[in-house]
Amino acid sequence: MNEKLALTALLGFIIIGAALIVFFSFPFGNTSNSATGQGALASAHDSEMPFTAFDRALAAELMDKDGDGKCDACGMAIKDCIASNMLQCNMDPKATIGLLGSAHAHAEFRVYVNGAQIDFSKYAELHEEAMQNKSAETSSFIHVHEEEAPHKAGEILHMHASGVPLWVFFESIGMEFSKNCLKIQAGEEFCNAPEKTLKFYVNGRQNSSFENYAPKDDDKILISYGSESEDEIKGQLDSV
Ligand SMILES: [Zn+2]
Ligand SMILES: [Zn+2]
Repeated sequence: MNEKLALTALLGFIIIGAALIVFFSFPFGNTSNSATGQGALASAHDSEMPFTAFDRALAAELMDKDGDGKCDACGMAIKDCIASNMLQCNMDPKATIGLLGSAHAHAEFRVYVNGAQIDFSKYAELHEEAMQNKSAETSSFIHVHEEEAPHKAGEILHMHASGVPLWVFFESIGMEFSKNCLKIQAGEEFCNAPEKTLKFYVNGRQNSSFENYAPKDDDKILISYGSESEDEIKGQLDSV
């Protein structure tokens, strides 16, 4: 009788032990798989990435509209929200932007104004400076990097969170982009007019989301202002 009891207890321990091993080994297996699934571009800058000064200011603007230092949706201190990588409070059902580091995607983009390509390469350097708190411009959520062959510097948008809309990129470098106007800098604003229009294309097709479009991995994005013919637009689309 005693032997049977001991045997049952032993069997019980083995089953519980095996269940525990299976339970704990699964999540670890999954994280190592997703970490190896990223491309060469991803590995270049996957290390620790802090919020820039721009990101901290935008986080406060988005989460703390009443200015009491606390997130309006969840009551958490803004600095704690930022410490948990939130640009928008993830308790807010209207939030669309994921935590910093929640994704890593790349989209090619070109911006043409009256046929001339806008050069974004200087913002790659500015982002490096922002990482060291030496620049108030650029965002860790969406930015350009130094040259990544075969691409020139400033021709690939890097998104380091899910659901980051284009306006964050333009605002982070002091520009403005909407369906009506593209503002490069003070006094350099290009708005819809009868003979010149602002057009927005994603993967070769016109898109009505403009600044609210959140680029996806491998997207090809074209922003074009001017009075181009269809053929000229086709040439710009082919350059992306
Ligand atoms: Zn990247
Ligand atoms: Zn990056």
